[in-house]
Amino acid sequence: MSNELKNGHAPVPPTNFLRGIIEADLVSGTYADRSTHDGAPLPQVITRFPPEPNGYLHIGHAKSICLNFGLARDYAGRCHMRFDDTNPEKEEQEYVDTILDAVQWLGFSWEHEGGQHLYYASNYFDFMYAGAQALIRSGHAYVDEQNAEQMRESRGTLTEPGRNSPWRDRPADESLRLFEEMRDGKHPDGSLILRARIDMASPNMNLRDPAIYRIRHAVHHNTGSKWCVYPMYAYAHPVEDALENISHSICTLEFEDQRPLYDWVLERLSAEGMFAKPLPRQYEFARLNLTYIITSKRKLKQLVDEKIVEGWDDPRMPTIVGLRRRGYTPEAIRLMCDRTGASKHNSWIDYGVLEGALREDLDPKARRAVAVLRPLKLIIDNFPAGQSIDCSAPVYPPSHPLHDQEHRHFPITRELWIEREDFMEVPPKGYFRLFPGNKVRLRYGYVVECTGCDKDQDGNVIAVHCTYFEDSKSGTEGSSTYKVKGNLHWVSAEHALATEVRLYDRLFTDPHPDAGGKDFLTALNPNSKEVITAYLEPTLKSAQPGDIYQFERHGYFVADRVDSTDGQPVFNRAVTLKDSWGK
Ligand code: ATP
Ligand code: MG
Repeated sequence: MSNELKNGHAPVPPTNFLRGIIEADLVSGTYADRSTHDGAPLPQVITRFPPEPNGYLHIGHAKSICLNFGLARDYAGRCHMRFDDTNPEKEEQEYVDTILDAVQWLGFSWEHEGGQHLYYASNYFDFMYAGAQALIRSGHAYVDEQNAEQMRESRGTLTEPGRNSPWRDRPADESLRLFEEMRDGKHPDGSLILRARIDMASPNMNLRDPAIYRIRHAVHHNTGSKWCVYPMYAYAHPVEDALENISHSICTLEFEDQRPLYDWVLERLSAEGMFAKPLPRQYEFARLNLTYIITSKRKLKQLVDEKIVEGWDDPRMPTIVGLRRRGYTPEAIRLMCDRTGASKHNSWIDYGVLEGALREDLDPKARRAVAVLRPLKLIIDNFPAGQSIDCSAPVYPPSHPLHDQEHRHFPITRELWIEREDFMEVPPKGYFRLFPGNKVRLRYGYVVECTGCDKDQDGNVIAVHCTYFEDSKSGTEGSSTYKVKGNLHWVSAEHALATEVRLYDRLFTDPHPDAGGKDFLTALNPNSKEVITAYLEPTLKSAQPGDIYQFERHGYFVADRVDSTDGQPVFNRAVTLKDSWGK
């Protein structure tokens, strides 16, 4: 399936306030006339996607990816793929690899006009260190000797100002020397800390002399043991953005209160000649909140660790790897992200919007196939045993360019599987499927008339009987003389592929599983995974992992060989044909 952004079915994204900001900057030329050190012109729009490589990406990250890469694409700019790897402890190469894979799978690239824009914040540690020294020299930072407890205590509250540290006015030379000692490993973790010298009485707590460098004797995945001091996010992030000439630094609303600090860092360092103007600007949008899922990394990990799901790529997980195994397409995820735009206010998006986007993407392009999920035997008594007649159906739906060209073939035989719900001995009013005396069409095959059924001792129906009309075959002239209301799917009992199908559903029954401190484990949907053996059209024997089909009347299913031992494809249900939740 194509990952191409422009020829997909996604409509032009709706305008959002970020587009308004970018367009205003383009009109006023805020970021025109910028160039690199060697004089090459820079695009006016440079965004970045800056994950910390400490876990798997989820649907919320996809939102950020679509926004950042999407805006860069739409405004002829570029988006940097940047690992915000300034925390030594939690970061691993495994996460770097899965993140890069997820971004590419979503259809985005950090390549722009021949340049690769893949960056690691840890490669800027030298610069960040020098920037911190410059702040100390100019009186804008100092080494504090208070411990964490004392710092917390002197920080004040929302209603009370904080108190100055006794080390706040120490001479710059002394702070410089101590900062070097910190770097040289002469002090244990937590004994000294570098703080920005701003305003302990600021109504914005983030400006009350925030920590900008701390001691951490730890091995880093990229820089090894070169460093034992590491920059704090609030200092590192604006520096990373400015070094990469980011124009629009887009983050989620939680960072709104950090914006004054972001600007402070950049203003100070530009006054020291370390950055040229125009500086990057930070903008905040509301994070994506989808009902019926959780996105906290810690809680997702708990689901994995406690074996509530079968791994990070369990098809019920909201991770990119999970969604992918579930049968989600990049196009569907992009469509959902575009459609939900960017807002300044937090809100909930119904999970049905994501499912709707998948249906919308797959309906015109997914191959069609037949599957009987809850089988019941249908015996055509006047059809000779051992005989089979070839039937055919289009592979693709009517709107598809290959609709008239590609056909699949499958035999009809005396014994078939039909859906259990397609027969009723005593039908209610308005039931058009099989019941004694009624005629239906076996889709792509013949019209049959129901003659009765067999039951076991307990009265359960175990087989249905019918007779067929030889001149009624679909696609032949005679077929039009039969007018029937029911049109049932079926597979030949002898030829069907009997295989495992997993019927996945939402993992939680509560639309807000972890809202307000709720224990999300109490809201687990006991029916989020049902494993059945289904009878599939024989052509599906050749399905390859990742192939997506519409099983007629049932929904969309993706072939998945994970867990399959005998080499047969197994299928995961991605989504039903219609939304049945909340109805
Ligand atoms: P952590 O708790 O580890 O910081 P995180 O989800 O913020 O988790 P990051 O790796 O820092 O993970 O996120 C990368 C980017 O994705 C950030 O810019 C972040 O704002 C964005 N992002 C994360 N979750 C969402 C979400 N639900 N909606 C939109 N953007 C998100
Ligand atoms: Mg984060």
